[in-house]
Amino acid sequence: MQRKGILFIVSGPSGAGKGTVLNQVMRDLSGLSLSISVTTREPRDGEIDGVHYHFRKNEEFDEMVKNNEFLEHVSKYKNRYGTPRTGVEELLDAGRDVILEIETKGAIRIKSIFRDAVLVFITPYSSDELETRLDSRGSENSNSKELRLKIAKDEYKKMKHYDFIALNDDINVCVETIKAIIIAERSRLTRNTNAIERYIPSK
Ligand code: 5GP
Repeated sequence: MQRKGILFIVSGPSGAGKGTVLNQVMRDLSGLSLSISVTTREPRDGEIDGVHYHFRKNEEFDEMVKNNEFLEHVSKYKNRYGTPRTGVEELLDAGRDVILEIETKGAIRIKSIFRDAVLVFITPYSSDELETRLDSRGSENSNSKELRLKIAKDEYKKMKHYDFIALNDDINVCVETIKAIIIAERSRLTRNTNAIERYIPSK
């Protein structure tokens, strides 16, 4: 019997470099799918509907909440974000490993539903470095640097709920760290009980 997919949840403050790291991980490892969230925020330059997010109006988001279409959903920076239920569940049932790149509140909520989900927190080593990156991002979104730093502080407080920390001072090191976590989780015997059966058949 094919094993069920593993759910990986990756979080980290704005400026941690999650997107760049995950794109590289997706390029390097097979059998992985990145879940596409639904959001009410406006697309940024270069963002494509159905690729980066499913961009929806507030009323459409409300309707999806009403129809129980989200595994979890939150409001952040005055925008709303939600993880679609069907896509994720179907992929896991088909044996594909799924990555959710979501903030900490949603991550903890998902962990309470999927107890064997793996939570990974990406961050630069120092908060000074985070601040420098937020400076260089400048006007990428309309929120003040102060607001983003405050939100980052709240996210660091939730770090204790995570299974792994992946430091992102050097992108290549961070990519290798995430890949190592994924490969190790794939190799866990508790996720490969069929392997035992292969060597010691129960008749
Ligand atoms: P951005 O607007 O910069 O793309 O994302 C803002 C924050 O929302 C990031 O921390 C991102 O991880 C988080 N986020 C994106 N999609 C979801 C989602 O479906 N659920 C939750 N809880 N957070 C999300």
